[in-house]
Amino acid sequence: MAVKRKKIGSAGRFGPGYGKVKHRLNEIEKKQRKRQSCPFCNGRAKRTANAIWLCNKCGKNFAGGTFYLE
Ligand SMILES: [Zn+2]
Repeated sequence: MAVKRKKIGSAGRFGPGYGKVKHRLNEIEKKQRKRQSCPFCNGRAKRTANAIWLCNKCGKNFAGGTFYLE
């Protein structure tokens, strides 16, 4: 599904248009609730820091999305 997105820099995340941001956060939370899987072994990955993920199975650290893996 194509989603129209405004170009928002990291600083503009909580700027005007808060309603839309809330909507986005809602979507993100939905995705976060889903299990994120490791691209290397398909194991379970956990977010350790912003955009850094750690796989429970193979122990690999990798960069991914800030809030969820694409
Ligand atoms: Zn893995």
